[in-house]
This record gives sequence, C-alpha cells and structure tokens, in this order.
Amino acid sequence: MNLPLFSEVGSQTVLVVDDQPVNLKILGQALSKDYQVLLASSGEQALRMARDQLPDLILLDIIMKDMDGYQACRQLKSDPLTQNIPIIFSTAMDSVEDEVRGLEEGATDYITKPFNVALVLARVRNQLQLKKKTDLLERLVSLDGLTEIPNRRYFEQRLEEEWRRAERGEECLCLAMADIDAFKQFNDNYGHGAGDLCLQKVARCLSSNAQRSGDLVARYGGEEFAVLLPATDLDAGRLVVERLRQSVEDLAIPHRFSPVTDVVTLSVGLACIRVSLDMEKERLWKEADKQLYGAKQAGRNRVHTAWLHC
Ligand SMILES: [Mg+2]
Repeated sequence: MNLPLFSEVGSQTVLVVDDQPVNLKILGQALSKDYQVLLASSGEQALRMARDQLPDLILLDIIMKDMDGYQACRQLKSDPLTQNIPIIFSTAMDSVEDEVRGLEEGATDYITKPFNVALVLARVRNQLQLKKKTDLLERLVSLDGLTEIPNRRYFEQRLEEEWRRAERGEECLCLAMADIDAFKQFNDNYGHGAGDLCLQKVARCLSSNAQRSGDLVARYGGEEFAVLLPATDLDAGRLVVERLRQSVEDLAIPHRFSPVTDVVTLSVGLACIRVSLDMEKERLWKEADKQLYGAKQAGRNRVHTAWLHC
C-alpha cells in the first residue's frame, strides 16, 4: 500500500524553526532523543523543508528576520500539502494578545521563551499523540474497504495536490483510467464472492507494480481503477501502464466467459499533459476516459494513450 502522506508509527518528525542558533541547539538536543528533528533558521527555509519532508509537527519562532512566524504559519495553512501539520508557536513574547493571535493564525499551541525543556517536551508529546490518531483516522477514511488500496476520495485529493505542484513547475502529469474487462460476465458466472476476490487480487497487483515514489493507484469505483503518475511524460507513462496491464494478465485469473481471452484482463486509457496555469483538470479526466473507451472498442486488454496539447 502506498500512502506517502502518512508517517510511519514510531518515526515522527519535528521541524524546529528559529533564527537564533542557540535556540535551535537547545530544542534540537532535547527533541532528538525521541524524534527525528529537522532544523530551519528562517521562514523560507521552514516552508521548503515542510513541503519536502512533511514533518508531523512544527515548532515555529514568531520573531524572525524577513518572514516572521505569523507569515510562515499563514503560508503553511494555505498549502494543501502542509495545512494539516500542527504548529506550536514559540516566542519570547508572553502577552495574552500574542497568544490569541497565534492561535487565530492556526497554531495549535504556544510556548514562551526562555524554554522550560520539560514543558516543551510535554507539549510536543501531546501534539504528536494527537497527530498519530488523526493520521490513523485519515488513513481509514482514505482506504477502499474491500481492496485496502486508496479510495476515490484520497485519489482526488492527491490529484489536486499534484496538479498544483505540476502547475508551479510546469511539469507533465499522467492520469490513467483502467477497467477490468468483462467483469459483469465474471460476476454473473463465478458469483460475487469470486468477483470480490478478483478485485482484491487485481488491486494488490496494480499497487505493487506502480512502484515509483509518488505513483498512486486507487479503486475509483466498481471494477474501475485510477492511476496517477506525477512528473511523468507520455512515453514513461505508457511504459508504466503497459506494465500494469501485463501484470494483470500475468495473474492468470481464469475467466472462461471473457470475449477477450481465457483470463482476467485490463483495458487502460492514459492521458498526459504539461500542466500550466489556467488549465482545467477536467480535460485530463475526459481524455483518459475517452482513451479507455477507445481501448475497449478496439478489442480490450490494451492501452490507449493521448498527449494533450495546450
Ligand atoms: Mg527569533
């Protein structure tokens, strides 16, 4: 299973942001006994590290040169990739107004300097325990109950994120729709129990054959699967989905009632686009669907692809 947004149990990461090296040192040492620690000395560096490493918690200094903690917090909260990372503000200021403002900006807690290390550790521990529970719930609502691979909800969320990322870098993005051939005949003849087992096998097979980090296979509905390949051009995308198609055929699940061949097969429609501003995601969906329809019409058990021009 491939849900990269979720941290593994026992390896929680804390990003400490402070423009004073001595504060980074104190907090870094205190936290590194129990957690992976990342250190950033400016708001800009913090935003970069947060996006790249997706820490489980951010300790954020308020008063910093260039970008202050409030600004950094606002940016983290407006980015879908980082908006769910809890933030604890740390600052020398201890007025009630500052604390209120910090919480209104979206911070979950507040610590004041000079640090009481035991208090910092206790607050960090509380937030990380909450984060673990939130992640677990998030994981449960993101999985398809039958096949235990990501569901449509999670897929659409990830597509949104990857689309924005691709927009910034004007990168290529591939989207594929895949459909088990003659699945109705499979269900009608072998029964729904066998149908469910078939879906589970195909799902597991697709998941384990989309191996590059960032690649995502989800159950989109019924016998339909969606595949997202970020930072991938048409040629590379075609290779990946052709391997997926072949891997399902190689499972050799008997299907005597298929008009294609005597095993379960997959038809795939792939669309690739170089994403830039003002482009509509819906075009990519429509094209992938159109290609899937074409693959079905042409005899099934095949991949049809299209490059979308701007
Ligand atoms: Mg400071």
